[in-house]
Formats: sequence, C-alpha cells, structure tokens
Amino acid sequence: MSRIVLLGPPGCGKGTQSKLLVEKKNYIQLSTGDLLREETSKNSDLGKKISMLMESGELVSDDIVINIIVNKVEEYVNKSVIFDGFPRNLNQAKVLDEALGNISLELNNVIFFKIDFEILKERIQNRIKQADSGDLRKDDNIETLLNRIEVYKSSTLPIVEYYEKKGILSKINAMEDIDKVNEEILKIIS
Ligand code: AMP
Repeated sequence: MSRIVLLGPPGCGKGTQSKLLVEKKNYIQLSTGDLLREETSKNSDLGKKISMLMESGELVSDDIVINIIVNKVEEYVNKSVIFDGFPRNLNQAKVLDEALGNISLELNNVIFFKIDFEILKERIQNRIKQADSGDLRKDDNIETLLNRIEVYKSSTLPIVEYYEKKGILSKINAMEDIDKVNEEILKIIS
C-alpha cells in the first residue's frame, strides 16, 4: 500500500494523472476539491460558506478541510491513496503527517508538478474557451484562476521545501504530454 501526494498549481494535470493511477494501479483518489464540491451541493450553511470561498479562489479554512480528509485517511487505511489538492499549506501538511502517524502510516512520495505559470494561464484560458458553459466549474474563470495561482504561490509552494527536507519529494515536468507525465509518475512510485 502506498500513499502519495500530487502537488502543483491549478490546471497542472493533477486530476488527470490521479484518474490514470486509479485506472491503472487501483489507487483511491482523495480530492479535497471534489469532497468540498460534494459538500456545497447539500445547500447547507456550511455548503454556502464553502461555495463562496471556492468561487473566489481562496482556500477553505483548515478545520473544515482537515476534518473531511482525516476521516477519509482512516476509512482507507488498507488502500493505496492519492492525495489530490491536499495539503495546500504547511499546517495541512503537518496535520496529514500526524493523522497518518496515528495509524502507523506515512507518505511514500510527494510528486511536484513543475509548470510555467504563463503556459498554465494559456491552458486554462483555452479550456474555458473550448468548454460548453454547462461543463465549466464555477471557479473556471480567468479572474478566479489568477487568484488561485497567487494563493498557490503564497500558501502552497512553501510545502515543497518541507517535503524536500523529508527526502520524499520528486519533481516532474508537467509541461510534457499526458502519457509522458504518467510514465514519469509510474517510475517514481514503482
Ligand atoms: P481543486 O478542485 O483542487 O482545484 O480545488 C478547488 C477549490 O477548493 C480551491 O480553490 C479551494 O477553494 C478549495 N480547496 C480544495 N482543496 C483545498 C485544501 N486542501 N485546502 C483549502 N481549500 C481547498
């Protein structure tokens, strides 16, 4: 069983690569974005609060996200798991280590998707142009995206050093095509 984190900015391909690992290697994908979107569909007060933050591109508060993910960590104790979109700041990274430690587990790999921010903006602008409006997420607009990139730079990038020091970080070139990126990931986790 292995536990891996896919770390990178919005639109870098983490979701696509997670789905490939689910298909090919039987991983469970834990995407905090998907779990939060599930919560927003309930239309509760909590759901509305989460919705507003997601639509602006800000992070949802740690206590909400951590609560959701820690329950899942315990649920999938006997499975190989991909953390997609979590952790997104240093506090979340430390809490994840603690939660895994409590059940005598640890992260095996953190895969850092390196991508040029200008290419990223182009990719997402194209995705927005090509999509039917019904297929777009509420945070798939250029204004929110620019904020998500800024939030990524200030809150999420510092985690890279944290995992580098632990010796579990591998960097991949996320500008290659999907198959090549997948090959690189499979090499790292094999
Ligand atoms: P994603 O689907 O991973 O792109 O996430 C979409 C949005 O959900 C983000 O812009 C945040 O508002 C929120 N979100 C997802 N994961 C987290 C997290 N680990 N911590 C805080 N907010 C998150």
